[in-house]
Amino acid sequence: MAAIVNLLKSGDYQSLKKKVTFTFDDGYRDFLTGALPVLLRHKAPATVFIVTGMLGEKASWSGNSKHVQLMAEDEIRHIRAQGIALGSHTMTHADLTTLDQEELYRQLKESRARLRDLGESFYAFSYPWGQWSSQASGAVKASGYECAVTVSGEIRPGRADIYCLPRITMRGDMDFKSFQAFFLPADC
Ligand SMILES: [Zn+2]
Repeated sequence: MAAIVNLLKSGDYQSLKKKVTFTFDDGYRDFLTGALPVLLRHKAPATVFIVTGMLGEKASWSGNSKHVQLMAEDEIRHIRAQGIALGSHTMTHADLTTLDQEELYRQLKESRARLRDLGESFYAFSYPWGQWSSQASGAVKASGYECAVTVSGEIRPGRADIYCLPRITMRGDMDFKSFQAFFLPADC
């Protein structure tokens, strides 16, 4: 994320071509066995956006995944030591657009402080539920984050807002062909 944000800031869109980074929301424990070995094998850069107030707990915010285990602090420190970047996904997976001003800033500032404690020095943020507003993105910036990502959106480097960066969603049921289709013209 840091390399891409720096290129976006400098307007070096040529160098951005063919640059890819992987991001993972929530910090599920199966990252350790599913994604980490593959990322390390391919030396692929990645950021995991963690729910900093719920390390080691279950993903209780979601009906679908409420029993899914989140990585504990020692596991987060382990992936950081392996070169995986950490980002914030708030303290409690809060929808920023529903919070009052005080709670909005508390979620952002406490979460950022937690990232620092865990050894992170580049502060990236991912909006829980993909929910953002101009007030929310302003608060993310004012709280000392260097960029923020949404869950979807059109990739237009020349017009990128670094506090509202789009991502391409990869789901478990997608095969390689449908993933390729994001990048290649239909007749390739
Ligand atoms: Zn999430």
